[in-house]
Amino acid sequence: MISSSSSSPIPVTNALSIDVEDWFQVSAFSPYISRARWDVLPCRVERNVDLLLEILARHDAKATFFTLGWIAERYPAMVRRLVAAGHELASHGYGHQRATDQTEAAFKADLTLAKTVLEDICGLEVIGYRAPSFSVGEANPWAHDTMLETGHRYSSSVFPVAHDHYGAPDAPRFAHRLPNGLWELPPATVRARGRNFPVGGGGWFRLMPYALTAWGIRRINQLERQPTIAYFHPWEFDPGQPRVETANAKARFRHYLNLSRTQVRLERLLVDFRWNRIDTTFSAQLGGLQMLPVGTPNTLTHAHARFTA
Ligand SMILES: [Zn+2]
Repeated sequence: MISSSSSSPIPVTNALSIDVEDWFQVSAFSPYISRARWDVLPCRVERNVDLLLEILARHDAKATFFTLGWIAERYPAMVRRLVAAGHELASHGYGHQRATDQTEAAFKADLTLAKTVLEDICGLEVIGYRAPSFSVGEANPWAHDTMLETGHRYSSSVFPVAHDHYGAPDAPRFAHRLPNGLWELPPATVRARGRNFPVGGGGWFRLMPYALTAWGIRRINQLERQPTIAYFHPWEFDPGQPRVETANAKARFRHYLNLSRTQVRLERLLVDFRWNRIDTTFSAQLGGLQMLPVGTPNTLTHAHARFTA
């Protein structure tokens, strides 16, 4: 039994998200691993996703899995397992290229292909999208329109922090509806000393003491009365993954830091706070939209009407 640092969970439901990609697809490693090698490197994603599914089931928690089309094509049974377990399947695009490195046309093609692959596998409409490396911001104001045009209803792609690889420090910190009707649902940040600091995800979660993450989420839930969105990657739960020795020291530090502690820390989060899928946690904003069978009569029409009304 994992000990809880509070007597009972705060009655705010937070959203848990997993970006389903493998260790060799991480953006920080892209200068060191060519795409041509993706097909010959040992995949670890299935065992890591299955570990996450087991952890989530043990804690009776649900999550949203932003899954790469490239991964889904190779592991369709894994995708069906996570959907059958009650989790939300969402899109992380197909080939894990940063939106900032793509033309508008290439970005659209990537989103369309990923959505087709995911929906063909699960038979449900995919409504959520997260850009690789949170690469949506001032540099690509067209990206949110492309998401809407390709049939997505929400995005979790803008990280309101200052970071050397991503971030839009002046963007809103909480769920907000964009002028085109799409909802942007940003990952959790704490506001302190005039700056936003990320909590509940990625390298920061592994770098900072657990108590600081818990403090941040509690503060957002209690003082700001908002749900948070936490995010993880399957490779963060895999200390045995192959090492990219050619990567620079910063990339290796960020990637390999505290991998052996991530599972214990996630389990503490699952005990200390309530978690659910993004579409359920934000159902009030999304107008009750959830994944419906592809081809459900008027699903898209109704959704679109609601969003453009
Ligand atoms: Zn990613």
